[in-house]
Amino acid sequence: MSTKNRKVLCVGAGLTGSVIARELADHGLPVTVIDEREHIAGNCWCQRNPHTGILVHAYGPHIFHTSDEKIWEYVNRYAEFRPYLHRVKASIEGRICSLPINLLTINQFFDKSFTPLEAQKFLENVLAEPGITAPVSLEDQALRSVGRDLYEAFFKGYTIKQWGMHPRDLPASILKRLPVRFSFDDNYFSDAYQGIPTKGYTELVQNILSSSNIQLKLNTRYKSNDVEKYNHVFYSGRIDRYFDYKFGQLPYRTLKFEHFYPAEHLDGDFQGCAQMNFCDKEVPYTRIIEHKHLAPWEKHENTITTREFSQACGQNDIPFYPVLHAGGSDILDQYIAESKKQIRTTFVGRLGTHQYLDMDVAVSRALLEAHRFLKTL
Ligand code: UDP
Repeated sequence: MSTKNRKVLCVGAGLTGSVIARELADHGLPVTVIDEREHIAGNCWCQRNPHTGILVHAYGPHIFHTSDEKIWEYVNRYAEFRPYLHRVKASIEGRICSLPINLLTINQFFDKSFTPLEAQKFLENVLAEPGITAPVSLEDQALRSVGRDLYEAFFKGYTIKQWGMHPRDLPASILKRLPVRFSFDDNYFSDAYQGIPTKGYTELVQNILSSSNIQLKLNTRYKSNDVEKYNHVFYSGRIDRYFDYKFGQLPYRTLKFEHFYPAEHLDGDFQGCAQMNFCDKEVPYTRIIEHKHLAPWEKHENTITTREFSQACGQNDIPFYPVLHAGGSDILDQYIAESKKQIRTTFVGRLGTHQYLDMDVAVSRALLEAHRFLKTL
């Protein structure tokens, strides 16, 4: 069969589905991309507020960061990025501290003036729980790297709110995302390339999808008999939904957002930074995003802020985070085993593989899957 006669369906017009579609389209395959929402770009969709011109990251802040030069080059091919360093602050019992945990945080929290070496020794000798060599849980990972006091203040309450679970039941990998530094470097990420597209992620994804070989259909839900109409399907929706929840529902977290616009008293600068985390368990939201600070090269007199609330995700909610368990998941294993039997469907992305993937990893995996498929032709 010639390449042109092979019809491919990509389910989901987020980063994963769009990158796969584009890669195949560039190799001459006609690709249909469907998405049940009315817009492309999945959860990195963003839009300028018409009254203020501020670019609003409608589904939470998205910062593109990677150490993979090829992935950085790839996204820069489709949109102009400006370098952006994410500097997050944490509110703890009324005090504002620096995040990720760095020398300033340690000195602020313990009211000290440690040098890097002193801080390291202080944490190692005085606080770090002895005997945890290979942490399995998020709690163990925190105790081992920052000790009990910092864990309880910065991670315990936030994590319980974010995941609806105790940190001892969550895997260490979640916290390994965050660096602990014994310098004053407060860059939230450690990657070589970090930035945000100047016109937003919607335009980035739009440009990726812009190919004469790609047909986009929004407001279109995947139906189980679609697989018969195509030679191959790349499915980036929830894996449990694909199988009609036959092994039960996989846990995801959804986010609810409370947006505050200028008319609601928010003129000027609300919090002085893009992201303030609220680590106390008593505060119902996890963080407040002030969108204009995600584009510091723009000047805005007004401001827009968003409070994020994390909740268990029902079947009709938008899933954001797959909830992973420290001990793994039998249900997930069953779905993965079942997915491997679907020879004409490849499961991709955060929801299709039930993995906590960053955007750069999503792009990298999408390219990998697309090329793996192209080799089979
Ligand atoms: N975390 C925390 N307190 C913070 C920030 C992060 O406990 O102030 C923990 C929490 O479990 C969170 C994880 O670290 O889910 C990863 O944080 P990250 O900022 O990478 O989360 P994301 O931006 O993907 O929501």
